[in-house]
Amino acid sequence: MSGFDYRDDRLFVEDVALADIVGAVGSPCYVYSRQVLTDAYRAFAEALGAQRSLVCYAVKANGNLALLATLADLGAGFDIVSQGELERVLAAGGDPARVVFSGVGKTEAEMRRALEVGIRCFNVESAAELARLDSVAGALGVRAPVSLRVNPDVDAGTHPYIATGLKENKFGIPLAEAAACYGQAARYTHLSFVGIDCHIGSQLTELRPFADALDRVLPEAARLRRAGLPLTHIDVGGGLGVRYRDERPPTIAAYVALVRDRLAAHGLQDLELVLEPGRALVAAAGVLATRVEYIKETQAKRFAIVDAGMNDLIRPALYGAWQNLTAARRRPGPAREYDVVGPVCESADTFGRGRMLAIEPGAVLVIGAAGSYGFAMSSQYNARPRPAEVLVDGARFHVVRRRETYEDLMRGERVVREARRS
Ligand SMILES: *Cc1c(COP(=O)(O)O)cnc(C)c1O
Repeated sequence: MSGFDYRDDRLFVEDVALADIVGAVGSPCYVYSRQVLTDAYRAFAEALGAQRSLVCYAVKANGNLALLATLADLGAGFDIVSQGELERVLAAGGDPARVVFSGVGKTEAEMRRALEVGIRCFNVESAAELARLDSVAGALGVRAPVSLRVNPDVDAGTHPYIATGLKENKFGIPLAEAAACYGQAARYTHLSFVGIDCHIGSQLTELRPFADALDRVLPEAARLRRAGLPLTHIDVGGGLGVRYRDERPPTIAAYVALVRDRLAAHGLQDLELVLEPGRALVAAAGVLATRVEYIKETQAKRFAIVDAGMNDLIRPALYGAWQNLTAARRRPGPAREYDVVGPVCESADTFGRGRMLAIEPGAVLVIGAAGSYGFAMSSQYNARPRPAEVLVDGARFHVVRRRETYEDLMRGERVVREARRS
């Protein structure tokens, strides 16, 4: 089930008409389907079969507590990149023993908190970070579990902003230097080297770069093991792409089959396999609903001006990303060509160009596959309160984050007037 289907002329999210949600909650709003999210998680679990494994959802794709709780209940772990994400996971009832901590810039305070709650592993990205983690763990009198994130230097074939596995990217330790780092393991009295990981980029639509990365990283893992390093897991990162337009990304099943095949080929199938999918779990589970405020025709163009802006969903503006746009209510009558734009004072504030739509002012438009890197990357630019988020569960829907108020916009600020001189 896609979770977002037309019944007659109206778009439904599971068993709720999208127009009813917008009528109750207002516009713009993000709407998520619990069923679609659950189905995506189960697709990973089924494909993993008997393989010892842990699916660590990459929280940065969408950190809404209701989604995190849904995944926690399904048995998911979490991949975090900040203490804020850790606090979200804990607040949602996630198990800290199933959390892996990625990112190149972990602070001492973040390390301390993660050690105190007992996360599963730190994905360490530099020798300097190893030294810092060793001393923070030492001060707490504990041992920190460590995996080294290696950089396999492969081209993910994705947008340069979200490619992370090339040697010129800031991520990971060059593969050639990894053995030397592990070789120093004994020097770090408060670290346990338990894993190896990589993550080469996001929105990958082919298996090839994944296979290339695995075929570089796994032989290294096998060598380390033969040299006596007691590895317990391999973390292959995230990055599996989704379909926004006409991409044909591998299915979850095909992707997991490839990973299992490469593990077996390198004799590592007895290790625990950790995956860190973000987009592949949540993208298709969400849409952004937005109302058409004006239709504006100039000599050059016809614009549909909507009430969502690039502050609410930045992917089209930031990456030139294409996302599907449809009317929540199909109406008879000819479609006409529109540039769909928001109210923000930037020409980049465009959701789509030359889209064929049959709409009038007041119509609700639906921006597809907005469950990942949508709300998570939103801002209050132009002093716009962030939209509400809604979770649909069968025939019911729940506001899982209320729309921000104008008070929220100014929270924590104060006015300081120049001192008067007499
Ligand atoms: C962003 C990120 C992910 C998730 O990427 P997706 O493309 O959303 O699957 C996983 N691991 C790390 C280290 C990341 O930075």
